[in-house]
Amino acid sequence: MTTVTSQNLLDVIKAYFASLGLEAEAGSYLTARNFVEGLVLKLPAVCLVPGNKPDHSRSKQTHIHVTGNNRYFFFPAAEVNRAAASSADQPQDLLVSEQNIAALRGRAVTGPGLSLRPSHTMKKIACRAAQETQVQISKLRADGRTFIDLRNSLYENDLLVFLKQRTGSAMFAVGIPRSFYEDRYVFQSDVYTGLESRGAVTVRNALAAVMEEYGGAAVVDSDDAISDAVYQELVAAAPRPGEIADLPVPYLPAHPEGRNTRTTRPPTNPVLGRAALIQCGYRCAADGGHATFLRKSGERYLEVHHLVPLEWQEAFLYQLDVPANLVPLCPLCHRLLHYGRMEEKIPILTRLYEARRERLLASGISITLEELLRFYE
Ligand SMILES: [Zn+2]
Ligand SMILES: [Zn+2]
Repeated sequence: MTTVTSQNLLDVIKAYFASLGLEAEAGSYLTARNFVEGLVLKLPAVCLVPGNKPDHSRSKQTHIHVTGNNRYFFFPAAEVNRAAASSADQPQDLLVSEQNIAALRGRAVTGPGLSLRPSHTMKKIACRAAQETQVQISKLRADGRTFIDLRNSLYENDLLVFLKQRTGSAMFAVGIPRSFYEDRYVFQSDVYTGLESRGAVTVRNALAAVMEEYGGAAVVDSDDAISDAVYQELVAAAPRPGEIADLPVPYLPAHPEGRNTRTTRPPTNPVLGRAALIQCGYRCAADGGHATFLRKSGERYLEVHHLVPLEWQEAFLYQLDVPANLVPLCPLCHRLLHYGRMEEKIPILTRLYEARRERLLASGISITLEELLRFYE
């Protein structure tokens, strides 16, 4: 049994659509980018439409009562709590998947997409003497036809799930039959806030996975601008390292068969990049006065540059991905060294070289200024 939390509620709904053969369609729609909050109602007999109620139910009620904290899903908490009298019914825009209804009715499910249809349900705040203020949703005569079709397809203990969109006022409503979830999932609560998409591949969680797999010593093994951008993000995400001494590290070229022949960029260790940033006090090595900005994390944004360019690794016996060769730069200086004209690069390269010559030697990297400048032409 899987416990459902805000981290995997979207995955559960995706798994339901995947069971209908709509995995790709649901995967691109049901992400935390689109949805922020979910409400899972396990329908008791009393909340079903009359024709679907079991024989033992004598209830004539057709709307759905929403109580406790679940009430705040449909109305702001302050509005519910200060209500002194029942409000009028007001429409709540909903999106309902036609395939969801077809599947609940045992009909063939066909594409394209999730066939989302706009619909609505009526909602109101209901004040009853001596009872907690309620929220009621779904007035059968006033609700949108598609939503009524969905409710007509739900039986006791089926789930009616509402997902709140990140933008706009509409919600996605989905019915999940008891047969799908009851042997698989335990629902931790009714309301799930701060939804996450664990299944989705974002740059952030892809990088987190890389860091986890390589224990901080991740590699970026390609030679284009994308690989540099990924390297900078890996550096920022790398764990804080301790002191790292300048020592020669022999360079062992990868076996030709194990190598992607299209790349000239050898593997890099972002932990060393992070160490370089910390060591320089997060200041541009070309000019400590260069202004940058703070990352969302609060850390100053800088980029790490390999002074002796990595693409020349094959010309050296010792590794170029070592602290002595890692130079923190502000983004403008970094771009200049990669894309600028020689006359603007020379003064900066000269300064960086003078400052690093001893450390480079200690790391086994022997190079003259003239040789270095030639790498930048
Ligand atoms: Zn660079
Ligand atoms: Zn700079």
